[in-house]
Amino acid sequence: MDNEWKTRTKLVHDGTRRSQWNEVSEAIFLTQGFVYDTAEQAEARFLNAGPDEYIYARYGNPTVAMFEDRIAGLEGAEDAFATASGMAAVSGALMSMLKAGDHVVSARALFGSCLYILENILTRYGVEVTFVDGTDLDQWRAAIRPDTTAVFFETIANPTLEVVDLQAVADLAHAVGATVVVDNVFATPVFSRAMSQGADVVIYSATKHIDGQGRALGGVILGSRDFIRGTVEPYMKHTGGSMSPFTAWIMLKGLETISLRVHAQADSALAIVDALQGKPGLSRIIYPGHPSHAQNALVDRQMGKGGTVIALELAGGQAAAFRFLNELKIVVISNNLGDAKSIATHPATTTHQRLPDDQKAALGITPGLVRLSVGLEDTGDLIADLSQALQTSGE
Ligand SMILES: *Cc1c(COP(=O)(O)O)cnc(C)c1O
Repeated sequence: MDNEWKTRTKLVHDGTRRSQWNEVSEAIFLTQGFVYDTAEQAEARFLNAGPDEYIYARYGNPTVAMFEDRIAGLEGAEDAFATASGMAAVSGALMSMLKAGDHVVSARALFGSCLYILENILTRYGVEVTFVDGTDLDQWRAAIRPDTTAVFFETIANPTLEVVDLQAVADLAHAVGATVVVDNVFATPVFSRAMSQGADVVIYSATKHIDGQGRALGGVILGSRDFIRGTVEPYMKHTGGSMSPFTAWIMLKGLETISLRVHAQADSALAIVDALQGKPGLSRIIYPGHPSHAQNALVDRQMGKGGTVIALELAGGQAAAFRFLNELKIVVISNNLGDAKSIATHPATTTHQRLPDDQKAALGITPGLVRLSVGLEDTGDLIADLSQALQTSGE
């Protein structure tokens, strides 16, 4: 959006379109189609639809457009395309831009479904994919070739919270003209500075912090106007992964509060790490925003705060991790993240269950590892809950 507003103002007002009723809260346009005044108008719109000229909800819808404009304003991107889920965004961004014969370099530490797209789907269509350790710049340097089309990585990897140096990888990629595509879920659109640090395409699962209350699946692809309207939109509108207007309304309202929520969650996460560090029974506690994180200086530079997710490793392995999870009274056992409710996950037996043991070990997904998504509960209550579960699990 072309305005000088600060983040919190943009999050409340960017993208708003009002109907003839001048409603305060954004309307949900639950319509799949739009009426044309004349046959000539229908013909003209199919030939070349302008902004806010709608045809069919798979192509665009006013509520969806409000969400797209608001998230684009937050990210500092020229444009955005909203999708049915985070995975529709990842697959749509990659499939729309790649073709047989192209070469992609990707970090190996990826959300399971992202890995499936790169390892199993793209390769089936003749795209060559080279995997690297995302934190090792020498590996990126060695893998990126003059004919590399794109690089792909999660700026903070799930669940071990290693951080990829976005600016450095982008410099290597841009030197050969490759497009930098990042899955930025853990950084959140509030802490992200990805566009100014070299990302060409930024992807979010809106299911996470954008909704922030565990209600709906959604996703978004952000980039230049040319890329979004010229490459992504034709692919998405013909393959059908667009966001529904009802979901867009949920995500639009989620954006109004996202800055307050993720700042509170990140502050709480930091306090929890300080309180739990050194407790008996814990062999490791990982949080990118804490000075104890090996890449804390990079985190400061790249995103300012460390996000909303912590990883804990229980010294007693899987049995201790299970006892810890089962003792939690406030924190729930589930697998979403970025939610108002604090959520604990045991990656080795759930989200990353299907990875072979050697790959789990290589990615640091040990039997004692627990991922904790910090919610909006009182920080003291969370510290008390985690501490009592830790103590009981070690007895
Ligand atoms: C959750 C997640 C996705 C997938 O998003 P969905 O909305 O569940 O499809 C992709 N990447 C990362 C890093 C995620 O955490």
